[in-house]
Amino acid sequence: MKKRVYSGIRATGRLHLGNYLGAVKGMLAVQEQYDCVFAVVDLHTITVPYDPKTLSQSVREIILDYLAAGLDPEKCLLEIQSRVPQHTELAYLLSTIYQVARLEDLPTYKEKKAQYPQYVNMGLLFYPVLMAADIMLYKGDFVPVGIDQEPHLEVTREIARKFNQMFGPTFPEPVRFKTPGEYVPSLAGSGKMSKSIEGSFINLTDDLETIKKRLASAPTDSGTAGGALPKEGGVANLFKMLQLFRADDVYKKYEQDYIAGKIRYSDLKHDLADVIFTELQPFQQRRKEFENNPKRVDEILEKSNEACRKEAEETMGEVRAKMGLV
Ligand code: ADP
Repeated sequence: MKKRVYSGIRATGRLHLGNYLGAVKGMLAVQEQYDCVFAVVDLHTITVPYDPKTLSQSVREIILDYLAAGLDPEKCLLEIQSRVPQHTELAYLLSTIYQVARLEDLPTYKEKKAQYPQYVNMGLLFYPVLMAADIMLYKGDFVPVGIDQEPHLEVTREIARKFNQMFGPTFPEPVRFKTPGEYVPSLAGSGKMSKSIEGSFINLTDDLETIKKRLASAPTDSGTAGGALPKEGGVANLFKMLQLFRADDVYKKYEQDYIAGKIRYSDLKHDLADVIFTELQPFQQRRKEFENNPKRVDEILEKSNEACRKEAEETMGEVRAKMGLV
């Protein structure tokens, strides 16, 4: 049997380089060889403050990003999570075999609690259980996501193991499908690139001018430091970006300038912007083609979600029977 893959992205904004290198690149690699479902996880999106009037457009933007990046509906299924109601049913069933204390202890839950103290809802606590259900609904073996998702995947494995022990072998224990860009740093100098941190990201739809502007505000140092390259901070992050985009010659040139204490960061940022934009150009062209053909996108979604519901229902039949719900 072919291995199965599931991965999803929240509809909280346009995709950025972190999403692309950490998740989408992995999706592109696995769609060639495995049975894959790639989702826009709108039910996860609504666990933080959002605007119901713009949600469906935000979902659409991610679908367009997926298609433009090269996810091929002939090779994989593109899912909108809320159109497959089995996700919530499975999540509820799985929640009955998992302990609350473990969820309260997860770093992502603690971060979100601190970020939105007025919006600490059940859905936020429940997030990792729904994520486990997302993956397990399709009996996923591999999950192409960034390294920040590892604690959630650990929860998924624990739930799968517990289910198998209690009700008989049913689910694989999924592992992360890793990419070289599993952690793309923030442009703001510390932490990861994230949609919710202003100044941290470059979007896949940004034009050259915007990329230059975003890089211009990235922090550096006086340019006279010399010695070995720093391991963290703004300068380290700019070099990491050059590495992630495989700009080896540009990297070497500026590394030598840094060591000699004569680096010009404006030049480095200019060259980095060119490198990034060159990689994004074909993506942006393809995205325009899909934007101009909404009917084709609707058809893809209709067909994909229908197939997803069918697969999901097969798993649910098995789960209900094993749990005695017949
Ligand atoms: P964000 O944090 O920007 O809101 P999501 O939480 O929606 O992004 O994550 C979508 C996918 O992108 C996940 O697989 C996540 O691991 C990956 N991802 C997000 N940010 C980064 C990053 N800076 N580096 C690598 N992967 C990332």
